[in-house]
Amino acid sequence: MTATIREHLGARARFLVVAAAAGWMIFVACMFFPAIPWPVMVGSFVTVIAAILGLLLALRCPRCRHRLPQVGLAEVWTPAQAVKPRECPRCRIALDTAG
Ligand SMILES: [Zn+2]
Repeated sequence: MTATIREHLGARARFLVVAAAAGWMIFVACMFFPAIPWPVMVGSFVTVIAAILGLLLALRCPRCRHRLPQVGLAEVWTPAQAVKPRECPRCRIALDTAG
């Protein structure tokens, strides 16, 4: 079974959101526990920034490469019955087709 474009973008967005949250929690822990070495703090901060940039720039339509962060984030944060984008705003490919 091939995943749809929407499922693919949702899985990628879910991974990036978890990476950003984990990086942020480690970064905050480093501020409260000074015994944690500073490279861990720097690494967690870089992870947070990279995950946020990934959410903004790496979620793209597979056909026209238009950025679609709203589709991936909708898969992460909204309930299944919510109204979601149905097609790419640039090339009009349906997001529920196999990608
Ligand atoms: Zn497109």
